[in-house]
Amino acid sequence: MIRAVVFDLDDTLYLERDYVASGFQAVAADLASRFPLCRDEVFGFLWKQFLSGVRDNSFNDLLFEYPQLSQVVAVSELVTLYRTHQPCLGLLEGIGDLLDAVVASGAETGIITDGPAVSQTAKIRALGLGSRIRQLVQTDEWGIQFRKPHPRAYEHIAAQTGIPAPECLYIGDNPEKDFCGARSLGWKTSRLRLSGQLHYAIDAKVGFGADFEAGSVANLTDFILSNLNIN
Ligand SMILES: [Mg+2]
Repeated sequence: MIRAVVFDLDDTLYLERDYVASGFQAVAADLASRFPLCRDEVFGFLWKQFLSGVRDNSFNDLLFEYPQLSQVVAVSELVTLYRTHQPCLGLLEGIGDLLDAVVASGAETGIITDGPAVSQTAKIRALGLGSRIRQLVQTDEWGIQFRKPHPRAYEHIAAQTGIPAPECLYIGDNPEKDFCGARSLGWKTSRLRLSGQLHYAIDAKVGFGADFEAGSVANLTDFILSNLNIN
């Protein structure tokens, strides 16, 4: 029986590509407001890079594409703009109903998320998750050395709720870090695998997989509700 349902945030409760698009729009809007640039053109360049697989060098590539910008704008400035923008995001279809059902069952709800706290806090606010999530751990507030799969966040939630590890479930999307730490403590784990996710195509290495893999939110919902103690 599951008594605590804890989620990853990025690409589990919403699609991370939506955040990337939202951040690129914010950067493009800012640059177009300060320089003689077309907002749509700047966004289009960044988005095309993203779709071609560029992940870490988008803003370097942008300044290379627009040399006049590189004289007056630093990459670090664009990264800060991206990370601190107020995102426009929506939950994956069906996730809101799933969260409501978990809350109604009386089970504990939580999120464990890595990433800059200012960005993760803004995402949680944009998604309206505050009232549905009781246990929130942003690992970067402790330091990036405590990012998943480090066990500290899972141990923290088990201690805060008093719920034994085998009755805790962690749901994530990334087999490289979401499941092995949780499983090593005795938690149950579930992977949500959807084609729009950044890690969709990655198969889990031996020892890194989840106990259960859901190919849709409906599939995940059935799995969770069948393991909850619903009166
Ligand atoms: Mg994720």
